[in-house]
Amino acid sequence: MSMKKDSVCPQCGSRNVMLGVKLDDRAGGAGARWDATLSVEQNPDAIFFKEATTVDLKACVCAQCGHVEPYVANPSQLWTAYQTARSEQRR
Ligand SMILES: [Zn+2]
Repeated sequence: MSMKKDSVCPQCGSRNVMLGVKLDDRAGGAGARWDATLSVEQNPDAIFFKEATTVDLKACVCAQCGHVEPYVANPSQLWTAYQTARSEQRR
């Protein structure tokens, strides 16, 4: 069962599920907030142009029990970068 797809909490079965909740990184303090992201470097061996592909990390949150399931907004974009990185390494 997918929390994101079915809008049902796998822990408690509640349908009060919030989708697309943004994960904020509070490392900056003093009200500074950055959206949490995941990134894949297409060319990790390069010194300058690593061409990192970054996607937003979002989450499904259950309003009943607080269960959280993170997911990325554009998984296919990340997958493309990952595949590119792997083919670069085989060269
Ligand atoms: Zn729940």
